[in-house]
Amino acid sequence: MSTAGTPAAEPAARCDLLVVGSANADLVIGVERRPAAGETVLGSDVRVHPGGKGANQAVAAARLGARTALLARVGDDGHGRLLLDSLRSAGASTAAVLVGGAPTGVALITVDPDGDNSIVVSPGANARLTPGDVREAADLIGAARVVSAQLEIPLETVGELVRHLPGGSRFVLNPSPPAALPAEILSACDPLVLNEHEARFVLGADGRAGADANGQAGAAGANTGGAGDRSGTAPEDRARALLELGPRSVVITLGARGALVADSRDDTCVHITSPRVEAVDTTGAGDAFTAALAWRLGRGDSLPDAARYAVRVGAAAVTAPGAQESFPTPEEVAAL
Ligand code: ATP
Repeated sequence: MSTAGTPAAEPAARCDLLVVGSANADLVIGVERRPAAGETVLGSDVRVHPGGKGANQAVAAARLGARTALLARVGDDGHGRLLLDSLRSAGASTAAVLVGGAPTGVALITVDPDGDNSIVVSPGANARLTPGDVREAADLIGAARVVSAQLEIPLETVGELVRHLPGGSRFVLNPSPPAALPAEILSACDPLVLNEHEARFVLGADGRAGADANGQAGAAGANTGGAGDRSGTAPEDRARALLELGPRSVVITLGARGALVADSRDDTCVHITSPRVEAVDTTGAGDAFTAALAWRLGRGDSLPDAARYAVRVGAAAVTAPGAQESFPTPEEVAAL
């Protein structure tokens, strides 16, 4: 393992998709019931899975055949090695995965027999991926056709990233976990990809006008984490309200219902249906969807065509348990 702040392995290469984001070890323990304050309960053997939205997206894209690199930070520890192994075995470049400075990020997850979970996240090394790390990766960023990011790393790091995007490249942001987004980041997104919960948050947190089911503009509450977004608002109206915040395009994922694609350039809003599948575990479906969408955009697909492929990837991912373990190969997508 390399020392703090140095790349883990391999020279950086020109890539189809550069993912900038988090890498976490997910530690999962099954419990009969989740503990109350001050209480100790016994659980199952711990299962350790590679995760984090950045690493998930990189693994998903690489498994589909995209030349993918991840810019991230992990600790110089066993969890970091697990994540690097998972990325490499999927075929993703780890040349820009920085090692050291803090322990690898961890998500401690307890799951009860009903499948309800409680999660504590220790961001660890993810919180130490700095704007300076982005500046040092300027060559890699400049060579990527598409750059994608999420919000499990510091917002100022994402801000620095958008300042380094070369002309002609495309930036895809999944604002998860949701946060109030500066205009500079919003206007770089093409598209902003988010689920309905995140869409409500971004609209409410920004305090901008939403639109009601009749398409009439209405006032939204400021800084309320979604309180200004009225229940009953159609996804189409949310997508249009999100476009008003600055992104050139918006994709709202709708779970089994597929996704909604809205583009400010031609003022279109298209619903893409997802194939019907038997869902086993939806963990990571959004990451698989976003990775597939970003890669296909870089290959020159239109946004609706990229989304048509991405819903198939998301649907395939929910047919198997786990996150990275469930991400499909092109053959599995074709077989749907
Ligand atoms: P997660 O947080 O679980 O990773 P998400 O909330 O970010 O997911 P979803 O909208 O649930 O994202 O799912 C992303 C995509 O995965 C959907 O647009 C759809 O294509 C596919 N998908 C998810 N659930 C199902 C399902 N039950 N059946 C078919 N496709 C699904």
